[in-house]
Amino acid sequence: MIITMKKGANEADIQHVIDRVNGVGLEPRPLYGIERTVIAIIGDERTLDVEAFQAMHGVEDVKRVLAQYKLVSRETKAEDTLVTAGAASVGNGTLCVMAGPCAVESRDQIVEIAHAVKDVGATVLRGGAFKPRSSPYSFNGLGEKGLVYLAQAREATGLPVVTEVMTPALVPLVAEYADILQIGARNMQNYDLLRAVGQARRPVLLKRGMSATLEEFLMSAEYVMKEGNPDVILCERGIRTFNDYTRNTLDLCVVPAVKQLSHLPIIVDPSHGTGRPEYIIPMSKAAIAAGADGIMVEVHTDPERSVSDAAQTITVEHFSRLMGGLRHIAQYEGKRL
Ligand code: PEP
Ligand code: MN
Repeated sequence: MIITMKKGANEADIQHVIDRVNGVGLEPRPLYGIERTVIAIIGDERTLDVEAFQAMHGVEDVKRVLAQYKLVSRETKAEDTLVTAGAASVGNGTLCVMAGPCAVESRDQIVEIAHAVKDVGATVLRGGAFKPRSSPYSFNGLGEKGLVYLAQAREATGLPVVTEVMTPALVPLVAEYADILQIGARNMQNYDLLRAVGQARRPVLLKRGMSATLEEFLMSAEYVMKEGNPDVILCERGIRTFNDYTRNTLDLCVVPAVKQLSHLPIIVDPSHGTGRPEYIIPMSKAAIAAGADGIMVEVHTDPERSVSDAAQTITVEHFSRLMGGLRHIAQYEGKRL
């Protein structure tokens, strides 16, 4: 941490800051300039309260040098993390493709789609049993019945399944059926839920909140890892901006930024990111070219009849073309798919 004192700060102000830093066992190194004094702090500053120092008399500015996340940081672990769920892996050169409907609608629907996406190359089956819908009058998911159908689709195809869990109380139930626990964008900062999935022995797919900064995104992953769960997959799914020609703004630049700061795998969801079928192939290819470890995409055998997110859902034929494109990029990038 670097503390810059105000121009008029006196010796007592400076000494007070130095005493507080010493008091928590860190080492203050004051640099006395002609105009003002700067105090550099040596040691792990992450537990220091920036605001407390900011509030001290004579302090102009306080800046952290270290990010507040540790476990997710590349400084803690230099090599890329590989997360494995059933037969699928993601990260460290292996791409994954999570595909399936927005919501589980019936046993037949999810089993049929599971076979169809597997046949053309999906590695994980997606499908919501508990749906976070903007309206309480929309279809809110089949609940536990949906989980049972997902498990049946896994049994029929061998595909591991990813599905959303919305409350801490439901984590044990969802973990009983799912191979990967999905935290939705609306819950990225639900800290009780993050702690609960951190204690579950299942990989976690953490979607970026629609107005979350990169730092907030990584701090949420830190919550999961701090509970002892090392298997976190990040997912960029678009953020809210002034842009109104796509459902969200797919922030692909976050992919290389995450790669720089963290060892965790990151995948991209162009379905929620764009809301438009015609943009899904180009944005998926762009995601892999940007360094993403995979994609998550909404696919239905009859998109028009999807009970949720019909307008952004692609057909199996469209998904098959997408897979063809991804294989080219994967080969070019030297990634396994
Ligand atoms: C989903 O993937 O089912 C979903 C609800 O996405 P998001 O949380 O990104 O809106
Ligand atoms: Mn959806």
